[in-house]
Amino acid sequence: MAEAARHPDDAKTPEEVYRYLVDRVAGMESQNQGLKEQIRQLESDKRYIETQKIRYEREVRKLKSEIEHLKTPPLIVGTITDIIDTSRVVVRSSAGPRFLVRVSQSVKPVTLKAGARCTLNQQSLAIVEVLPSTYDSQVYGMELVDTPTETYEDIGGLEKQIMEIREAVELPMTRPDLFEKIGINPPKGVLLYGPPGTGKTLLAKAVAHETHAIFLHTVGSELVQKYIGEGARLVRELFDLAKEKAPSIVFIDEIDAIGASRTEAMTSGDREVQRTLMQLLAAMDGFEPRGDVKIIGATNRIDILDAALLRPGRFDRIIEIPLPDTEGRYSILKVHTRSMTLSDDVDLVEIARLTDGRNGADLNAICMEAGMFAIRKEHGQVCHEDFLTALNKFRCDFEKNHKLMTAGVMFA
Ligand code: ATP
Repeated sequence: MAEAARHPDDAKTPEEVYRYLVDRVAGMESQNQGLKEQIRQLESDKRYIETQKIRYEREVRKLKSEIEHLKTPPLIVGTITDIIDTSRVVVRSSAGPRFLVRVSQSVKPVTLKAGARCTLNQQSLAIVEVLPSTYDSQVYGMELVDTPTETYEDIGGLEKQIMEIREAVELPMTRPDLFEKIGINPPKGVLLYGPPGTGKTLLAKAVAHETHAIFLHTVGSELVQKYIGEGARLVRELFDLAKEKAPSIVFIDEIDAIGASRTEAMTSGDREVQRTLMQLLAAMDGFEPRGDVKIIGATNRIDILDAALLRPGRFDRIIEIPLPDTEGRYSILKVHTRSMTLSDDVDLVEIARLTDGRNGADLNAICMEAGMFAIRKEHGQVCHEDFLTALNKFRCDFEKNHKLMTAGVMFA
């Protein structure tokens, strides 16, 4: 083992002094190496901390601007009604009144168009931005994404009504040449009326399926809006979308919600409903009878509908969808039991006879209930007794609900 270098004071010979100095230099060099390594480590830590700092600063800036955004007051949505010149425009706010307002310099004059929607500053009501012309999301929601799957085979009975609606809606869409040859205008729309659950919606969907038309389904009450002019705008956008998507069928269920007769004594709510009806009448007048847009209305209360809706030129065909008779009920039962596994003893004629006064929806429910009884008994097929039990249960439920309803009326 090499002898350790002595301290120069203890060293006796020059070799010992030399060895001592060489060892010291080697020790200091290795110390220096260690310190350099430490510096490198600290520098890389510093770099990491600096990038972290930049990242956090960016985050803080983003959050601050988000806070600013959240603090900014909302803009009012309005509609441009008239353009006086590029800096002065008449707008109607969604709350109703009209104002003459200035236009922000950031708004391009070409985008200013009567009817366009815009945002207004809360204080000055100056136009801040012209909104892109899109349909109301509610109108988009009315479009069924796929063409309905229901066909005429899914409808029991109603042969005469199917024929009438086919002539009025399907034929003008599939064979417009026939009408051109004879020289008549086909009906613009069809109104289906009758008690609830008799297949009005089903019929409209089957027509849309048969014509491969886009089906725009809305309910009258959906078109009644809280703010002035909003209902009318929805109707306008609904028909614009129907024209854009043509061939299409606009189906308005419960049309009585907007189409009830107008009376003299009116609240502001009634006036808004009336404005919506006027827009509907104008929209119906505005489209081509030979075009690809057809309107089907449905109501349970034809007695309260406004005469303007019923006059020829609007709903040209008014088709009654009555409660099914015994034969109709038999056909409906056949439709709804088509995919059921029935035992040989099932007598649908008798079930049809026993269900006097019931509509298609009731018959559908009875078939489903009979199926449920069969599942409960683990029979594997539905027998006649299941139908009778279902009928009985349905009758009891109906009477119970009826009693509750009448009690509700008494308590109210
Ligand atoms: P509402 O006036 O209450 O809107 P509606 O007349 O539009 O009722 P639908 O919605 O068409 O009635 O019918 C409800 C259900 O009843 C249908 O989904 C269908 O299962 C059944 N139904 C009604 N009528 C018939 C029918 N003629 N043939 C087969 N099924 C029917």
